[in-house]
Amino acid sequence: MYDLIIIGAGPAGLTAGLYAGRYRLNTLIIEKILVGGQLLLSPTIENFPGFPGGIQTEELILRFKRQVDEVGLNIETADVLEINNSESASHTVKTENKIFQTKTIIVATGAHWKRLGVAGEERLIGKGVSYCATCDGPLFKNKEVAVVGGGDKAIEEAIFLSAYARKINLIHRRQGFRAAEILLEKAKANPKINFILDSRVEEILGLNRVEAVKIKNVLTGALSEIPSQGIFIFIGIKPNTEFLKNQLEIDETGFIITDEQMQTSSRGIFACGDCRKKSLYQVINACGEGAVAAHSAHAYLLNK
Ligand code: NAP
Repeated sequence: MYDLIIIGAGPAGLTAGLYAGRYRLNTLIIEKILVGGQLLLSPTIENFPGFPGGIQTEELILRFKRQVDEVGLNIETADVLEINNSESASHTVKTENKIFQTKTIIVATGAHWKRLGVAGEERLIGKGVSYCATCDGPLFKNKEVAVVGGGDKAIEEAIFLSAYARKINLIHRRQGFRAAEILLEKAKANPKINFILDSRVEEILGLNRVEAVKIKNVLTGALSEIPSQGIFIFIGIKPNTEFLKNQLEIDETGFIITDEQMQTSSRGIFACGDCRKKSLYQVINACGEGAVAAHSAHAYLLNK
């Protein structure tokens, strides 16, 4: 019987682990794929305090992980298939091979990048359609590529891709951007980045590989094709909460509802990071929420 099981080892889950370890809670972290989560899909992070000039995300994750190791926590690699909340003393966490009993749970499963849902997208994934510039950017040396989206991620990745690609067509569906102004300034000053605004992707074209992107101007309705050997899609995030199967209250898009203490609708189960409904999705507040969630789990165990 664990005091606490943390599901997910991104910035939120690792910070929760660090705090839980320091409270000396008998804690297990379960991670599906790689320690670091979604953050590993970005090359660097420029807005994490304490690192002027930015820090490589891999290095930051290594540091988080070292601190978790220092407090003696185990990280098990497994896919959590379901949790069962119970009003009694314990909850269960089920993976493919095991069933764990735990007094509290912190869900820190993060999110993944959304799909556009246009023709050609699924068929050409890995053949020019990508959701990870860090992974695939170097494959597009001297090529012309498209980036879709107008948030932090799209702008950051367009700038990253300019180290490899010859030209980047940044396609965004309106004139205004969600991205931070400092990122936009950098992108606008980059001669390789060409902004195509008020435009939506209609189809991704190519027989065996991406060859072009068909776009529609939303104001005029005009259709055009832009040559593209790759298309990088960054149009927001979708929470990894399917496994909860309605055990916790979630909003219509799947984000978990919590209070300020990270308490979900089920007593003893907490959530933090990008799987949670909130107004700002950044590494810095994911870490803060991880700390609060562990604090709340500790307080819950003391008061039980
Ligand atoms: P985001 O901020 O939600 O922006 C999504 C963008 O995609 C918006 O410009 C949106 O357009 C556009 N979009 C959404 N659906 C679309 C569709 N079907 N077709 C075309 N365009 C579509 O998402 P994000 O940039 O992917 O970032 C996700 C979260 O991670 C954000 O909260 C972001 O702040 C955070 N993030 C943090 C860091 C960091 O900490 N350094 C770095 C990167 C990202 P509209 O504006 O018209 O809706």
